[in-house]
Amino acid sequence: MKRIFHYSTLSIAVALCSTAVSAYSQLGKAGTEVLDSTKNEKVKMVVYELPYISGKNVSIVQGYNGWWSHQKSNALDFLMRRGEVICAARDGIVQSTRSDSQKGGASYKFISDGNYVIIKHDDSTSAAYWHMEYNSVMVKEGDTIKAGQPIGKVGSTGFSSGPHLHFEVYYFDRYGKEHTVKTVFRTSRGIKKPRTWHFYKKPK
Ligand SMILES: [Zn+2]
Repeated sequence: MKRIFHYSTLSIAVALCSTAVSAYSQLGKAGTEVLDSTKNEKVKMVVYELPYISGKNVSIVQGYNGWWSHQKSNALDFLMRRGEVICAARDGIVQSTRSDSQKGGASYKFISDGNYVIIKHDDSTSAAYWHMEYNSVMVKEGDTIKAGQPIGKVGSTGFSSGPHLHFEVYYFDRYGKEHTVKTVFRTSRGIKKPRTWHFYKKPK
């Protein structure tokens, strides 16, 4: 099982996000041509859907290489309310889930208590959706998932200071070392790189 340090807070903080564009380039076949404005050229990337329902506008409270628990990790914390629906960000197959935990809090002692869904993509990356509400997971191992499909509800199980969605994409290299990767999202204002303290609205 994946173990990640999760935490989010609304305190003012310095976002330590890396903006290296090359890090956004994904492995994978299903790339879409996206204009890289810093290089003024088109690069191939996989574009992810925002992991909530259409029309919702959600802020990121901790971004890539975040100031607290995301140091050296390409993970995102979306600030959402308890019980809000989480949707798959990309097509894939459910690799594993947990839904039976009722425990969580802002302490390391809860590190193994998070409910989650992990979805494997066709390029061998996987997306992890963490801290789901007790008994809220809507999918099971082996299910084929379409981007946008509801998969569970927001909670605060595991190492978490309050309801939010921790989202990350990762893969294992040939030595078994895990690498998290940055993703870009389709938003109501075009394809965007996610940044801490910014809001992102999912198109209808
Ligand atoms: Zn997190």
